[in-house]
Amino acid sequence: MIRQFVPQEFCLKCRSCCRFKEANSVWSPCLLDEEIQGLVDRAGIPAASISADRRIQPIAGPDGGFICPFLDSGDNKCLIYDQRPFECRLYPFLINLRKGKVLLTVDLNCPYVLERMDSPEMREYIVYISSYLNSPKQLKILKDNPQIIQAYEEVREVAELRLSRDPE
Ligand code: SF4
Ligand code: SF4
Repeated sequence: MIRQFVPQEFCLKCRSCCRFKEANSVWSPCLLDEEIQGLVDRAGIPAASISADRRIQPIAGPDGGFICPFLDSGDNKCLIYDQRPFECRLYPFLINLRKGKVLLTVDLNCPYVLERMDSPEMREYIVYISSYLNSPKQLKILKDNPQIIQAYEEVREVAELRLSRDPE
């Protein structure tokens, strides 16, 4: 279980996550292979709701734009919070590929992150989450699920993971 950096109460008021500008947004959560069938079974959504590149396929939102099909846009809660995907648990941290290196990065669009970028709280969490992701079990999961390693923009590199990939 990943310890969360952003308190749930802060996120519930923020209303930034789980919403997307485009239906094929790169910010829609990318799934581990072992998460896909579970999501289809639990939510009763058609397999087509998982895109070909193994992302949750956003649906049209009530106020324009797109939302995750698991978001209750009324109270801003995740309908599968206790079973949400690895990428959702890791966010606002993301796993990035740059020049053959697998990096832990943090999203600069998250207001909670921006307020605490160089704080002791952030430094302590980076030590924790880097250590967690660099454990043999988690490195194997990342190695078996290369789709999780993306090239996100507007992020800051905070640590390198012990997993090399071929240069881009
Ligand atoms: S952008 Fe940050 S504060 Fe806002 S909902 Fe997402 S994780 Fe929470
Ligand atoms: S699964 Fe839950 S936490 Fe993840 S994007 Fe969808 S609503 Fe948000």
